[in-house]
Amino acid sequence: MVVRRLSQSLIVAFLAVAFVALAGVTGGSVAKAQGRFHDHNQNQHQRRERETLRRHQQRERRLNGNSRELRHHQQHEREDLRRHQRFESRRRRY
Ligand SMILES: [Zn+2]
Ligand SMILES: [Zn+2]
Repeated sequence: MVVRRLSQSLIVAFLAVAFVALAGVTGGSVAKAQGRFHDHNQNQHQRRERETLRRHQQRERRLNGNSRELRHHQQHEREDLRRHQRFESRRRRY
């Protein structure tokens, strides 16, 4: 199905974007995080993830229009991010 293939490629695109954002944050904060615990860094990291997702979803709507399929896909992305951030908050290592 064309639509399904489309949303799969969108997920891959999002993961690529998220990974780059993550790598950027991690690379910058490893040195700082080594000695001390930084709540602030984690908040910043999570704010950046939400920002990345928001930009990604805006782009998707621009490119694909606001279909039910897309809303469904984006709902999943938001849930995935929430789950990821809950996990992160428990670890508290940023
Ligand atoms: Zn998406
Ligand atoms: Zn994260």
